[in-house]
Amino acid sequence: MTGRLTGKRILVTGAAQGIGLAMVRAFLDEGAGVFLIDRDEALLAGVGNELTGQGAPIAHRAVDITDEQGIARAVSQAASTIGEINALVNNAGINVFAEPLQTTDEEWQQCFDINLKGAWNCCKAVLPGMIAGDGGVILNIASTHAFTIIPHTFPYPLAKHALLGMTKSLALEYAGRNVRVNALAPGYVSTQKVIDYWNSFPDPEAAKAQTLKLHPGGRIATPEEIALAAVFMISDECPFMNAACLTIDGGLSVQQHP
Ligand code: NAD
Repeated sequence: MTGRLTGKRILVTGAAQGIGLAMVRAFLDEGAGVFLIDRDEALLAGVGNELTGQGAPIAHRAVDITDEQGIARAVSQAASTIGEINALVNNAGINVFAEPLQTTDEEWQQCFDINLKGAWNCCKAVLPGMIAGDGGVILNIASTHAFTIIPHTFPYPLAKHALLGMTKSLALEYAGRNVRVNALAPGYVSTQKVIDYWNSFPDPEAAKAQTLKLHPGGRIATPEEIALAAVFMISDECPFMNAACLTIDGGLSVQQHP
């Protein structure tokens, strides 16, 4: 631990597994207080108990980010447990594996409700405290699909494009109030979500091989590699980084494929 995040009180959504959990661990290692949110109550309780047992400044609450009142209550709970939130990581997100004409209205709605409106619910809940205090930082976990499209995941890339738009919009609105808003765009990362993606194909092993082949280095990222970038973006080491989107994809999105 080097204390790069000392004084940060960070709310992380989708914190019970995958990229979210890797970020939580990295933030705690760097001296932050962390408030974990996830809709998976059992998973979150297990993670919360494990981390609390280590004496770290953490607390958690099982809540769905689409529940605006629930999020407001969670932010109040955070203030009374780890302190007023001065950093937010909008990480909770879901994918939809369908081509456009097979996507149901329910899938469309859920995708936008979670990936976009859920993130906005969290911003709305923490921004007043940041503005009234010493400012803050918001990090939206977007995706390379915030600026590229892959087939058969409609409408996920659309929602991520919109999340990037919201990042830029909030960054401009609150730059004068000492609030920085940025996005991080991972390529493929080895989490349950990607395993689910491979399993959505008739031949999951072939789908996995195809994904690895897409990457210049022949592999995908670990959640910990994404967390390293998140630590930097939340820290005070990049005070003029605002409205930015940092891509962490091993070169995937700049490569032209035949
Ligand atoms: P994951 O599925 O492994 O974990 C996501 C967590 O979010 C889960 O614990 C889930 O319970 C929680 N969650 C989902 N919807 C929620 C809601 N409405 N309210 C509260 N919690 C909710 O996912 P991951 O792969 O770690 O992805 C995390 C983020 O990174 C997502 O926004 C995803 O779009 C983005 N991302 C992932 C990849 C990848 O390859 N894994 C690539 C690019 C971007």
